[in-house]
Amino acid sequence: MTAYRHMLAPLDLGFTTLKNRVLMGSMHTGLEETRDWNRVAEFYAERARGDVGLMVTGGIGPNMEGAVAPGAAMLANDEDIKNHSVITDRVHAAGGKIAMQILHAGRYAFSPHCVAPSPVKSPISPFPPNALDEDGIEKQISDIVATAARARAAGYDGVEIMGSEGYFLNQFLVAHTNKRTDRWGGSYENRMRLPIEVVRRTREAVGTDFIIIYRLSMIDLVPDGSTFEEVVKLAKEIEKAGATIINTGIGWHEARIPTIATSVPRAAFAWVTKKLMGQVNIPIITSNRINTPEVAEELLATGCADMVSMARPMLADAHFISKAAAGKSAQIAPCIACNQACLDHTFGGKISSCLVNPQACHETELVVTPTDSPKSIAVVGAGPAGLSTAITAAQRGHSVTLFDKSDELGGQLNMAKQIPGKEEFRGLVDWYCTMVATLGITTQLGTTATPEMLQDFDEVIIATGVLPRDPAIPGQDGPNVMDYIDVLRHKKPVGKSVAVIGAGGIGFDVSEFLSEEDGHSTTEHLPEWMREWGVADPAEHRGGLNPEGPKPGHPARAITLLQRKAEKHGKRLGKTTGWIHRAALKMKEVTFIGGVNYESIDADGLHVSFGEARENPQTIAAETIVLCAGQIPDRSLADALEQQGTRCHVIGGADVAAELDAKRAIDQGTRLAATL
Ligand code: FAD
Ligand code: NAP
Ligand code: SF4
Repeated sequence: MTAYRHMLAPLDLGFTTLKNRVLMGSMHTGLEETRDWNRVAEFYAERARGDVGLMVTGGIGPNMEGAVAPGAAMLANDEDIKNHSVITDRVHAAGGKIAMQILHAGRYAFSPHCVAPSPVKSPISPFPPNALDEDGIEKQISDIVATAARARAAGYDGVEIMGSEGYFLNQFLVAHTNKRTDRWGGSYENRMRLPIEVVRRTREAVGTDFIIIYRLSMIDLVPDGSTFEEVVKLAKEIEKAGATIINTGIGWHEARIPTIATSVPRAAFAWVTKKLMGQVNIPIITSNRINTPEVAEELLATGCADMVSMARPMLADAHFISKAAAGKSAQIAPCIACNQACLDHTFGGKISSCLVNPQACHETELVVTPTDSPKSIAVVGAGPAGLSTAITAAQRGHSVTLFDKSDELGGQLNMAKQIPGKEEFRGLVDWYCTMVATLGITTQLGTTATPEMLQDFDEVIIATGVLPRDPAIPGQDGPNVMDYIDVLRHKKPVGKSVAVIGAGGIGFDVSEFLSEEDGHSTTEHLPEWMREWGVADPAEHRGGLNPEGPKPGHPARAITLLQRKAEKHGKRLGKTTGWIHRAALKMKEVTFIGGVNYESIDADGLHVSFGEARENPQTIAAETIVLCAGQIPDRSLADALEQQGTRCHVIGGADVAAELDAKRAIDQGTRLAATL
């Protein structure tokens, strides 16, 4: 019997059977918009080969006004049907099943033509929506239904009707966005009329043997959101209207509570889905921050849902299910929920990928093939750049020796994994250790590589990372000053009042680390995390918002986070996560000071002034000053090799330290190894 018998059990839907209980949730990867149908098809087919039970595409707009943005993918005519059938044919040939998501964005559509039940502008959109009249509502319904019929013609196994995350159908449900007084507004019966009509008429149009998933917002996390009684009422009506499966949506996009970031506890919202179990007779899917077979199995075994949705984990590893089924779950590349290469790309107008798997969404471009001329390769530095090179090169059949002066693999990831809310980095380091062992890579840990050691290799890769930048502040050699490595690696004792110099990613992380008592993280304590962010049971409080608001724990230290730039702190952090880091530090009462000049440090603390004229001198009275002033490349070994005429490849932080992150390090390492 397999270890994941609930997760791998088939699900009989009557007219068709899913091979297991895992849905690849919808993701806006930007692939459909490329109109490179071979590339889109290969992305989905690779996941079908990995045996996921059912996939849902990125959101496809039902019409111009409902599409998320101008140019967003649609399925509007025979030409589109032909293009989409390239995807469905390839997925079916690979033994998979795929549903197409129909996404009407309503007032979230990035367009002056966006429509909504009432002209209430969203706080996350610049466009006030146009209120629909009766004919306008009828048009939206018939456009959604026609899109579903075309999805069937294109060979999809079903559709997912997006009714959550604050999109169009969700906007009708909630009084805050629906101020109508006609039959589409007012009472809850009236407000839920639209989603029910959409499902009912879709079922009429597509017939009985076609999957209709309805994504239902089970906890809105916005003021005036639905109560759980309303959620149950809607779910029952959606079932009656003809849905095959109900999928869980968590939080509107405008919610000020994180729902999928790495600091959100694993399966943080499965308890909400569980409340709906037994209330309807169709399968229910749970979602959000599920990223391992163990978590999925536990949720299914304990009756939280009939299926689990995992979206980003299928970017990190297309073969998640097949590896789990083969007893190789330790080899599944883990999604660390960082959003850095997926959602941040989407919001930056770039095609998604994955920090841990640069091949994701680039299957046709970044191809890793076995080598026909195996070489001996030395990789110096076992941070993410070196590890990804070593692993990819070994997968191709090269013989790899990996050096690190430290006695552990992972490089700076070993510091990242200690930050409260970044526990997922532990899984990434563990995965690297598994892969290095599985692929038979020779490791030379605790070994500082020298040019002499590297003489006999066919290829030498230098991935020696970075050194902390010296900010050259008078007095920084004093006993009250340390850098982030002293804090995170050497665990030097830090006083109760701290000034952190530099508000980049590391300055933010160090501040989060120091604001918690040693080793504590609310990410590992769901009730505490819910209290911290003000999440409540929607059966007790509308929308699942605690009326008392966020209740963070007491900060462990008084922290001041400083930067020289006069801009907003954290402006350059991840597009989808920067606000969370800022909010987390504000909850811990961290003081942000920008536009400073660092004058000196002494026993009284840090002395700063402001502006070009170095005015308004101020002393930040801090027992400890922590330097997080950026990084510079560690090129000492690369320079020594070049001087003696040994050719080498320099990657990661050793190459360019500015704006370096693990995403770039891994991408560069993988791409290099694919060419060796
Ligand atoms: P490194 O990780 O620095 O690895 C270099 C390795 O080379 C080290 O292990 C070192 O011991 C070894 N080495 C050096 N010289 C020699 C030698 N002569 N012989 C043998 N070994 C040698 N990035 C993100 O993308 N997302 C995050 O959330 C994130 N959070 C972070 C949080 C913290 C606290 C820190 C410190 C960093 C974080 N980063 C994050 C940054 C990320 O870890 C780095 O960008 C990444 O590790 C750089 O990879 P690298 O392989 O180039 O170098
Ligand atoms: P960083 O993001 O470049 O930030 C460096 C900070 O130091 C800035 O706030 C900068 O602000 C300040 N600084 C620069 N030169 C200085 C000087 N001479 N004196 C004093 N202050 C100076 O670098 P980092 O924080 O060291 O992070 C390293 C890399 O790791 C970054 O590229 C980052 O992307 C990555 N990382 C990512 C995450 C993540 O969550 N994605 C987390 C941690 C780290 P001023 O110039 O305004 O003073
Ligand atoms: Fe997961 Fe980060 Fe990859 Fe996105 S980029 S899929 S969040 S690991």
